[in-house]
Amino acid sequence: LVSRKRQSENTVIQLGEAVIGDGSSSLIAGPCSVESYEQVFEVAKALKEQGIKLLRGGAFKPRTSPYDFQGLGEGGLEILRKVADQLDLKVISEVVNPSDIEMATQYVDVIQIGARNMQNFELLKAAGSVDTPVLLKRGLSATIEEFLFAAEYIVSRGNSKVMLCERGIRTYEKWTRNTLDISAVPILKNESHLPVFVDVTHSTGRRDILLPCAKAALAAGADGVMLEVHPNPSVALSDARQQIDIPSFDQFMKDLRSSGLYR
Ligand code: PEP
Ligand code: MN
Repeated sequence: LVSRKRQSENTVIQLGEAVIGDGSSSLIAGPCSVESYEQVFEVAKALKEQGIKLLRGGAFKPRTSPYDFQGLGEGGLEILRKVADQLDLKVISEVVNPSDIEMATQYVDVIQIGARNMQNFELLKAAGSVDTPVLLKRGLSATIEEFLFAAEYIVSRGNSKVMLCERGIRTYEKWTRNTLDISAVPILKNESHLPVFVDVTHSTGRRDILLPCAKAALAAGADGVMLEVHPNPSVALSDARQQIDIPSFDQFMKDLRSSGLYR
């Protein structure tokens, strides 16, 4: 069902004023984790000023260590919804538990399925049985075929509004957090009609190369880019080393726009 052979036209997903997959570029930005109303509002205001419509923020955080901040849960989704309604934005947030999908649809406009859950088949089925759009991230060590089959799980359950997100894969390379597989972008675009995003924050883990990687993503045909923005990254409760602050985000948008690749 996700194959280009089945459907030649691109899947286009409309989220309010944001249109994804129609040839224009989309941007998803926001903090790694929802920490407080004030924190989310500050970032959301910066997005609004840049004309960005899609606000991200994690409320259920799949952390490597059980001792790290696990997210605010449903309270975090409430904060996102409140801020998004105030500023007329759309919200995207990760769900990790199949039994939370139904609840999350009351707050979010897009359900994110994270890399660690790309093959959580019960979660995929649960996301496939609602009609809220889904952003599916590529697994840490998933092949492109496995990635497309994961999307197939969602679509085959009846939810055709799926977006794919390349977020880097595990290799031996240590100078980046993961290895951004830029070739996945044109392959996914050729093989599938679903929109494709590139998460430049988690793939690289490095603020200094976000811009060239975002340009590469768009040049390779990505429908959009995701990145993490925090009012004060040094005190962030997760991913403190790779989120960018608001002035850097403004500069990033300025540079991306002047590249001519962000349409
Ligand atoms: C995220 O986007 O918040 C996240 C945890 O990313 P990933 O699942 O790609 O690691
Ligand atoms: Mn993060």
